[in-house]
This record gives sequence, C-alpha cells and structure tokens, in this order.
Amino acid sequence: MGPSYPADVPPPPVVPAMDTVFTQLGLTDALAHAVQKMDYAEPTPIQQQAIPLVLAGRDVIGSAQTGTGKTAAFALPILQRLDRHGPLRCLILEPTRELALQVEQAFRDFGKFTNLRVTVIYGGVGYGRQREDLQRGVDVVVATPGRLLDHLEQRTLTLRGVNVLVLDEVDRMLDMGFLPDVKRIVQQCPRERQTLLFTATLPPEIESLAAWVLRHPVTVAVGRQRAPAETVSHAFYPVVGSQKFDLLRTLLERTKFESVLVFCRTKMGADRVAAWLKTHKHSVAVMHADRSQSERQEALAGFKAGRYEVLVATDLAARGLDIAGVTHVVNYDVPENPEDYVHRIGRTGRAHHTGDAFTLVTEESVRDARSIERFIGRAIEWKKLEDFPYVYSALFEERTLAAEDAAKPASRLHRGLRR
Ligand code: AMP
Repeated sequence: MGPSYPADVPPPPVVPAMDTVFTQLGLTDALAHAVQKMDYAEPTPIQQQAIPLVLAGRDVIGSAQTGTGKTAAFALPILQRLDRHGPLRCLILEPTRELALQVEQAFRDFGKFTNLRVTVIYGGVGYGRQREDLQRGVDVVVATPGRLLDHLEQRTLTLRGVNVLVLDEVDRMLDMGFLPDVKRIVQQCPRERQTLLFTATLPPEIESLAAWVLRHPVTVAVGRQRAPAETVSHAFYPVVGSQKFDLLRTLLERTKFESVLVFCRTKMGADRVAAWLKTHKHSVAVMHADRSQSERQEALAGFKAGRYEVLVATDLAARGLDIAGVTHVVNYDVPENPEDYVHRIGRTGRAHHTGDAFTLVTEESVRDARSIERFIGRAIEWKKLEDFPYVYSALFEERTLAAEDAAKPASRLHRGLRR
C-alpha cells in the first residue's frame, strides 16, 4: 500500500504543457517549467544519464563533483517520483551546512510548481524552526548527519517512511568523520528503498559503503572520474579464444612488471588461468567469491607483500581492493559493464605511477570492447604482439576494426608492443 496523502494541502499550480529536452528525458511539465524558469537550456551529462535511471527507480552511484549539475540530476527525478505532498519520503545527507542549504534551495526551485515541501536540518542553530517544519509535514529533508541524529533521538522525526535516500558528497562526509553517523542513519531507513550515492572519488571505504547501502547500482560517471586512468596506457589485444592464454603468457614474458592483476569474468575462469600460470612458473594467488574469507585475505596479503607476482581475480572479489603498486592490469576477459573496466583499470596507475592495462578482445567480446570506448569517450588503441604466432581472426581485418569508427587510423594493428 502506498503512503496516505493529507487532504488539507493545496493542489499544485497549473503549468502549460511543455515539450523540451527535459520532458524528453521523462520529466513532467511542472519540473520542465521550473527548469526553464532557471534558464537551463540543456541537461548536463550527469543529468542526461542519471535522470532516466532515477525515474526508473534504480540505485545509482554518481561519481561527480559539485559543478556538474548533479543536484538537479537527483532532485528533479526525485521530485517527480514523490509526485505530491505526503509524509516524509526522501532524506538527503550532506556533509556541511552550506551544501545542505544549497540543496534545499535547489529542491525549492525545482519543486516550485509542485506542492511538495522540503526543509533543511543542520547543527549550530536552535531547534525551534526545524521542529516546526517537521511537525507541519515535509516530503523531503536535507540534513547534516549530527543534527539529524539529535532529532531522531528526540523523536521529532522518524525515517520509517523514507523510500529515497541520497548520500551526497560521500567522500567529504567520510573525510569529516561522519561514517559512523551515516551508518546509524541508514540503519533507521527501511531496507526497501531507492538509494543514490554521489562522490567525486571512489576510495575503498566508499566502495564498501556503497556495497552495503545500494542494491544493484548503476554507476554514472562524469568529468575526470570517467577516465580515471590518465596515468595508465591501455590497449586492446585482439586474439582468438584458443590463443588467449598463450597471448597472456607472452605478454607477461615481454613485460617488465612487478605486480599484475589479471581479471577474469568467471570464478572457474579465474581458477583455470591461475592454474595455467602456475604451471608456467609464475607465483600466483586467486581471489573470487567461492574462496573462503581466510583464503582471500591470504591471497591479498601475499600479493601486497610481493609473495605473489600475479593476482587473478573476478570483479566481485576485486571491488574495493586498495592495492598500491600494481604495475599492470590484464583483462583476460573484457568486462561486460563498461564501468567495471574503469574500476579495474583504476587498480593500476594509482597515485600517479604509470601502469599499463592490457585487454584481450575476442570476436565474442568486441561489442563489449566498443561499449568501453564509448563509455570512456575515446578510442583505445588496438595492438598486436610482434612475432606472436597468431591464428587468424576476423578481428584483424582493418575494415572490421575500422567499421564503426572510420576516423581511426587503419594501421593501428600493426604497431608493436612498445616494451
Ligand atoms: P551542482 O553541480 O548541482 O552544484 O550545479 C552547479 C550549477 O550548475 C548550479 O548553479 C546549477 O544551478 C547549475 N546547473 C545545473 N544544471 C544545469 C543545466 N542543465 N543548465 C544550466 N545550469 C545548470
């Protein structure tokens, strides 16, 4: 059963029918009208990506900084989903009073042609107005964690009806030591909810917080986060399936590496690659979800300490790993989700050391490879290893490679490995 709506609130004002880029994104006339009044001509990239996802009820991780238009990216679709005035259903946590005020104002501006109500709660001021607003009934609370907890303790508000939770500027909240407060607050929200998490950076603590608060999130990245690997040189290596392992072995032989992270799509695949590498005299550890916690810890500790030169892992096990000094990442399998590529590659080249990223591309995975290029917004160089006894693949055909992007140089396949 949905929430009950108080009957004693005025209906929202009538607005003209709109046909703008914002309505085309799925937003209502009331919201498109408000946005027009604010002179937004076009959605920003994060708005373009996030608005349909939030409208569809998805959990989202937005890696974006202030200044990208991220407030509207979450506020507009949230207001639309709230629809009309009712009980408290949306909580937004902000690290500072200034940000909380700013976001509250944005909600007011965007919600001007709705009858939704918003209030802001932060410390360092009296409780009077905040209590009055809560008593009067609001749909959206924008709050800093400390004062919100005070209100929860005093029972001036309850989060039982919250079905949209936004954790904004999470990296700053963590820097400010708010993690325990944030966790306590999340625990008071119903499990059945939509959660949006915004952060400019995704260090391991945030990845594990995200794993805890979000359900099947979609990652939306803008700005620098979309291409985190500026210190990494990446390349695609086309190869037929049956030669993948030989190519990996040869790549490792010819590469001066200290520590290599090899990603596989499946647990079985990871075990198999690890076993093969062992027979070729590499010291190897494996991490995936079927290994026990102690095995995983041992693998990771051994890899970090340099006892193993190669760590073979699945995405699941590798999420949130903070491994300094990984010199190379090999995608033995192309990740299905382009954002996983960025995560995987982000494991190397940390702290501005350069690292290399190799991705083996077979005919079956060429589509996924193309979506990675689209996702990161640039073409990745395709390379062939010199003197490797390649079995022919249609992928080697210039026209196959160039088909979807005629602008790229035709001879890129013939460049040798630099090292
Ligand atoms: P934010 O990143 O949410 O802090 O937004 C940064 C600034 O960009 C704010 O002043 C917004 O009002 C403004 N802004 C957000 N979206 C748009 C848009 N689509 N067009 C023009 N300005 C925008």
